[in-house]
Amino acid sequence: MELVKDVPCPFCGTLCDDIIVKVEDNEIIGTINACRIGHSKFMDHKSATRYTKPLIRKNGSLVEVDMDEAIDKTAEILANSKRPLLFGWSSTECEAMGIGVNLAEELKGVIDNTATVCHGPSLLAVQDTGYPVSTLGEVKNRADVVIYWGCNPFHAHPRHIGRHVFSRGFFRNRGRSDRTVIVVDPRKSDTAKLADIHLQVDSGRDYELLDALRSVMNGHEIPYETVAGIPRDTIYQAVDILGKAQFGILFFGMGITMTAGKNRNIDAGICTIQELNQFAKYTLIPMRGHYNVNGFNQVCTWQTGYPFCVDFATGYPRYNPGESGSNDLLQNKEADSMMVVGSDPGAHFPQKALERMAEIPVIAIEPHRTPTTELADIIIPPAFVGVETEGTAYRMDSIPIRMKKLVETDLLSDKEIMEKILERTKEFIASK
Ligand code: SF4
Repeated sequence: MELVKDVPCPFCGTLCDDIIVKVEDNEIIGTINACRIGHSKFMDHKSATRYTKPLIRKNGSLVEVDMDEAIDKTAEILANSKRPLLFGWSSTECEAMGIGVNLAEELKGVIDNTATVCHGPSLLAVQDTGYPVSTLGEVKNRADVVIYWGCNPFHAHPRHIGRHVFSRGFFRNRGRSDRTVIVVDPRKSDTAKLADIHLQVDSGRDYELLDALRSVMNGHEIPYETVAGIPRDTIYQAVDILGKAQFGILFFGMGITMTAGKNRNIDAGICTIQELNQFAKYTLIPMRGHYNVNGFNQVCTWQTGYPFCVDFATGYPRYNPGESGSNDLLQNKEADSMMVVGSDPGAHFPQKALERMAEIPVIAIEPHRTPTTELADIIIPPAFVGVETEGTAYRMDSIPIRMKKLVETDLLSDKEIMEKILERTKEFIASK
């Protein structure tokens, strides 16, 4: 048996890179350090619902085909579309994403990622207001005040708190007892139960609470008994703690990005952090979900200037979320074909978008059976990044991490599949 050390976990945006994986006879037989979700990602990569051959729907049933036929059909569908949509990308390597952007440009299509339904508002706010960030390492070594707003890492990013907040750091060598944790959440979540202060904000009223915090920070009194369901004295107490910090960090999730106010909530959050820098060093980090959702926003920005919702219809990149987002294109019945890579919109998109997906050709580059593959006309199974193939991924704090190959497989990587699709698509377009 071989013990492979320092393995990054290809599940959530925490990208824990201290996993030890036990490998025997080209099989993963166990892990050390991974949380239960991460452990199951390594152990279940060969589960019963795994696809091992490309499939094409013929007469209503999926039938096995060879890779060349699947690539050919995919390229033909995309090249013959007027408004192809290339969506997903959050659970694959940056190298495949780069080719995906090239493919979208070649097709004069639209490329978008899962941020469109999670941290898209954060990306808009960052462009408007700024991005005062730090790394998770700085949080571990320096932070004495930690705010979790609209997120529940206890369940969604299970090792986030243990590795970066409750652990001992260079300047915080007593670990948990060196830090004050504030959780803002309408629910008494399991993360809130660990907090020193739980601000149980009324659902959808985060913007008001941020405004109240900023008012108090700037020396104003609150004339009301409560704001957004929080007693005035609790807000004063929270500001007192925030103002006395040496290094503070705001982690925020979809509980604030996808509730009333959306990107304006994040604008206010960024302004709060900028203003807190009058008193101490303060930064923020979005709690990114998929392990490489951030990677797509990086790659897409390098290549097009925009992080998501990029439309090449005019031959150059345009960006207009609300018009060029995946849900806009599907619900407005504009998209006439869709390729999904490394994500599962079938499980997460609204009904109207799914109805459109059922009407148009859908190609899924997907290892497992999912709600998306149920709608797909072509399924091409790739190797798992971080398990069966290498690749680059970006952690939630924008640190690039090299994913490891642990076992051999006959399957092509997403990058290799994308290269073949791009090459064949160019041939179809040239022959038209
Ligand atoms: S917290 Fe996330 S990255 Fe870390 S082991 Fe768990 S699932 Fe993997």
